[in-house]
Amino acid sequence: MRKLVAATGWKMNIGSAETVRYAGFLKSRVAQLDVSAIDIFVLPPFTSLPAAAGAFGNTPVAIGGQNMHWEDSGGWTGEISAPMLVEAGCRYVELAHSERLQHFGETYELIRRKVDRAMSAGLTPVICLGETAQEKAAGRSDEVLAEQVLTSLAGQPDNRVPDTILAYEPRWAIGAAEAASPDYVAARHKALRNILRQHRGRDVAEHTRIIYGGSVTPENGHDIIGLDDVDGLFVGRAAWTPEGFARIIELVVKAAAKKLARTTAATT
Ligand code: PEP
Repeated sequence: MRKLVAATGWKMNIGSAETVRYAGFLKSRVAQLDVSAIDIFVLPPFTSLPAAAGAFGNTPVAIGGQNMHWEDSGGWTGEISAPMLVEAGCRYVELAHSERLQHFGETYELIRRKVDRAMSAGLTPVICLGETAQEKAAGRSDEVLAEQVLTSLAGQPDNRVPDTILAYEPRWAIGAAEAASPDYVAARHKALRNILRQHRGRDVAEHTRIIYGGSVTPENGHDIIGLDDVDGLFVGRAAWTPEGFARIIELVVKAAAKKLARTTAATT
């Protein structure tokens, strides 16, 4: 069974002092739960990573970067490399967030290089995938997802693919009033798993986690995380308070227990 994920990206929010306060609250809530069946991580801005590493040390909450460069070092002013993230205590790195694509001109060819470097450095890349509103309207969503995922993973051997996390984040649903409907999410996650199956085989498709992001809240998250092919919730605004993220974590913990019970019943 795939381990479910509860994650949040903070974007350009939550400085060091606030990180310490956030972590203090979250730690006390997480300590009251059995979170051993799920993976939890937060992606603070770079300058908050040292505070996050300290404050979340020895807790089940891991940390990661929101971006990285594809080289380890050199004349790349303003950039951060994979080894630097590792040194700062990161286990994850988010790549291809729609804001990176939209405002900083990143392409999936570039993401492919970043994925490769991240994995060699021992980081888990969280690779964002998603169609624009126009692509959706043109009925091209699955074709776009195939192109994005296959480009990002090109050159990776099959056995490394499950060490990535794919984050389906429809671009039109990020920072929006509503998340994509559960039916729509189910169809896209199924399509993504089929793409993996066709191109990388059944084993890879079964073991690679595909999480959903885009206007998730504690209210709508329940129906989304309950879907078969959804392996986690990736949350922005609703998890920028520790109270909000704690509620998301609770949903994911409950969903993990239900999915385990379903799998056990199916195999006995
Ligand atoms: C995001 O930016 O990746 C995101 C999921 O944000 P929000 O939850 O605020 O839509």
